[in-house]
Amino acid sequence: MRVFIIGSGGREHALAWKLSQSPQVTEIYCAPGNGGIAEIATCISISATDIEGLLKFAKEKQIDLTIVGPEAPLLEGIVDRFKEHNLPIFGPEKLAARIEGSKRFAKELMQKYDIPTATFRSFTNAEVAKEYVRSHGVPIVVKADGLAAGKGVVVAHSIEEAELAIEEIIEKNIFGDAGREVVIEEFLSGQEVSLMAFVDGTTVKPMVISQDHKPVFDHDQGPNTGGMGAYSPVPQIPQSVVDEAISSILKPMAEAMYQEGLQYQGVLYAGLMVTETGPKVIEFNARLGDPETQVVLPRLKTDLLEILLAIVNGKLEEMEIEWDHQAAVCVVMAAGGYPSTYETGHLISGLPNDTDQQVIFHAGTKRANGKVFTSGGRVLGVTALDQDIPKAKAKTYQLVQQITFTNAHYRKDIANKALSHSFI
Ligand code: ATP
Repeated sequence: MRVFIIGSGGREHALAWKLSQSPQVTEIYCAPGNGGIAEIATCISISATDIEGLLKFAKEKQIDLTIVGPEAPLLEGIVDRFKEHNLPIFGPEKLAARIEGSKRFAKELMQKYDIPTATFRSFTNAEVAKEYVRSHGVPIVVKADGLAAGKGVVVAHSIEEAELAIEEIIEKNIFGDAGREVVIEEFLSGQEVSLMAFVDGTTVKPMVISQDHKPVFDHDQGPNTGGMGAYSPVPQIPQSVVDEAISSILKPMAEAMYQEGLQYQGVLYAGLMVTETGPKVIEFNARLGDPETQVVLPRLKTDLLEILLAIVNGKLEEMEIEWDHQAAVCVVMAAGGYPSTYETGHLISGLPNDTDQQVIFHAGTKRANGKVFTSGGRVLGVTALDQDIPKAKAKTYQLVQQITFTNAHYRKDIANKALSHSFI
């Protein structure tokens, strides 16, 4: 089977790596790919949002299954377009992907179907929004309605901070179209976890849980990034909480979309806050999380291609999905300056070989003359598996220390929140 992966990050490398283990996969293509994906797939320089270019390529190569990594092509309707041409594709249709593309849409759906989430109001008028903030008090969370690459959210600890965020979003329109509307939410406290599931209509098969690390510096300091590392499982979160999230959040959300007439075949990602009164939704995404995928897919024992094919053929219910009991830890090595303006073009040396217990997933890398160079903000996702989190963490950091490139930086505390749990 010929598979075609869309995207260029660590998530797409993890997808390509996992699919390369499937005996049915004969060829892997990736657009645009990166320096690591190029080792196991044919990379084609078509942008992930050039829908017509991707469609033309998939037809020419008679692709059997296309898998969409990032959200942008989903929101631009790549799935709808491929389906018009009878090309099998993994991911939700444009209208269903709005659960990620519009915070207001997601919140209204959650409200309608009683899915636990922070209480909220949405506003298009800055003065009315400010008045609401003043009457409500802080802490409070101010969000631009649409996609803003993780930068559209301000957790405000003072009224001034909240008012400034509202002005920037509505009046200064710093996020363009994404900022025409502002969503103001109740502040939730607790541990954040990521729970993803394979979904085919109303059939929901959860993956193992993981935890991301969004702020750039240790102890969750500094600005938010795309994610600086992840680990799975999350032993300090009891299974009963995960079960509750599956039954009160993931399943009702799939059911809600079905009731609304939305075609959801793909991955449903719930970003959750585990509060004192149970898990609540922070956000939904319409695709796999990154870096979470880099710790979740290495724990998947079932053939990924079989799962994806079952979903596009409406047969997920019949699939048994098995997970490895080992723990996985991923540390992201980033370019100097990231998440602000960052450097590129540095030579990466000391890259260890992959084994069945360690994989170096590439994100912002490119290959030239047999060497690997940095080409993006998040450069590598260094991942190792072991019996438990402390062992996997130690192994991952040993690998990180072998790899060098100018001004590389990474967090030293990935998975530390799990260490309060006792490992015997
Ligand atoms: P964007 O849409 O700009 O790409 P995003 O989808 O990453 O951003 P969210 O995940 O909604 O934005 O929020 C980013 C972070 O802000 C969360 O990971 C969480 O730490 C914090 N946050 C969001 N909502 C709340 C809330 N209601 N209470 C507490 N913290 C929150």
